Amino acid sequence: MPHTASVLLPGVPFPKIYNDSFTAKLTRRPMTELTRREILAMLLTTPAAASSWAQDTSESTDWTPLFDGKSLDGWKASEHEGSFKVVGGEILVHGERSHLFYTGKVHNADFRNFEFSAEIKTLPGSNSGVYFHTAFQPSGFPSAGFEVQVENNPPAPLTGYVERKKTGSLYGVRNVYKTFAKNDEWFTLSITVRGKLVQTRVNNLLVVDYIEPEQPFQADKKFGRVLNHGTFALQGHDPGSTTRFRNIRVRPLPDSASSEASDRPEVDDLYREVIRLSTENYPIVDYHVHLKGGLTIEQALENSRRLGINYGVAINCGLGFPVHSDESVQQYLDSMKGQPCFIALQAEGREWRTLVSPASIARFDYVFTDAMTFTDDHGKRMRLWIDEEVGNIPDPQAFMDMLLDRILGVMREPIDIYANPTFLPAQIAKDYETLWTPDRRRKVIAAAIENNVAIEINNRYKIPSASFIKQAKAAGAKFSFGTNNADANLGRLEYPLAMVKECGLAWQDIFVPRSTGQKRIETGN
Ligand SMILES: [Zn+2]
Repeated sequence: MPHTASVLLPGVPFPKIYNDSFTAKLTRRPMTELTRREILAMLLTTPAAASSWAQDTSESTDWTPLFDGKSLDGWKASEHEGSFKVVGGEILVHGERSHLFYTGKVHNADFRNFEFSAEIKTLPGSNSGVYFHTAFQPSGFPSAGFEVQVENNPPAPLTGYVERKKTGSLYGVRNVYKTFAKNDEWFTLSITVRGKLVQTRVNNLLVVDYIEPEQPFQADKKFGRVLNHGTFALQGHDPGSTTRFRNIRVRPLPDSASSEASDRPEVDDLYREVIRLSTENYPIVDYHVHLKGGLTIEQALENSRRLGINYGVAINCGLGFPVHSDESVQQYLDSMKGQPCFIALQAEGREWRTLVSPASIARFDYVFTDAMTFTDDHGKRMRLWIDEEVGNIPDPQAFMDMLLDRILGVMREPIDIYANPTFLPAQIAKDYETLWTPDRRRKVIAAAIENNVAIEINNRYKIPSASFIKQAKAAGAKFSFGTNNADANLGRLEYPLAMVKECGLAWQDIFVPRSTGQKRIETGN
């Protein structure tokens, strides 16, 4: 049974705009269970909802179902009609590729600004999506409008094409690389279009916040991923996919509704490169972000969504660092709960493994470390970026042999990424290309491959060099992108994206975190 606010709560005025917290409260359980008193209590405790309500009086108040729960009246399938069936009040999508377009009476099946919401359940192997601003076409993937991706599968072995774009992605334009919904569990997908602003939410988590530029960049000319107007469509992707939809509903907004944000992004080469690589299935993730220099998680995520670069936010773990025990892991993860980003552990020093349990380590999306903090062969503790601690290096070759030994040791720790790789102290950095001899490079690369450790392409230090990356690529190594920001300025992955081009890296060469149960700390390799 589809529900709308007006049907369920006759006589109770509804806010014109639900803010996030309000919507979150509403959707934790079916609306039918909410009493009038509870609704009023929510309104009183969410001032933001009340104020935006007052501002926006021109809008329609009602959510309208697009699916009657009994039939496909108002919907029209392309290619293979049999891929869509109504079962138990749900649309069951299973079969050959086909798209089910809304062609019914609501708003004449033509929407420009709107809020859309559907409850969706994917089965393992499922790949689906919701199109908007699209138009019926008899076959193929719809060329008009945008697809909001539905895909919750763990990373599969790289035997062929493996989809990196996860649920909530504005497909190929603003991707989401972490799954915030699970197979076999109902989740809510919401899409809002207001003027040039597109937002998508997965279980009320804002994952895409895209402002279309004045001149939208089209990376794939086959698809018109440009804001316009049109209808919705549900995707049946392939016979291996089974997806269920229910409570599909829309709230049209007036054509005049526009986003608050007037700052339309400037399109430069890097902006185009992010979209081009996103379209080509590269995971565009900065896996090495620190909340430093006053950078808050909110600012970081806002930045991330605007740039189309997903973030992995890392906390440092080691002696004298914020995370140093199972208890501090718990506290940290509690503080990051519900944040739409990867949550990472940066291991520090070499003692970190003795401080936290394997179970605590496995709770992070991934773990990384560098070989910049260690004790040398004479018992001297040093951090390579601090000149006074490194002291004079009388014999660079001997220093390199010691450093190589430390790097190979780090590779045996239960980590996923070797960060700040091949970093050299300032006094010998000018000789990087020669001190990193072919043999030393080969040993680092072989250890990374043997231990399934990705090599970070670091944006702050611009390391490793292109020649090192090319050698590692040829040997079959994997790479991650990371900034290791010193302050609140994160940049835009300038160096890693340049290296993708210069070194010919493919999307398969780029690291993605393993899923729970498959992590190195859990499997031993
Ligand atoms: Zn770091």
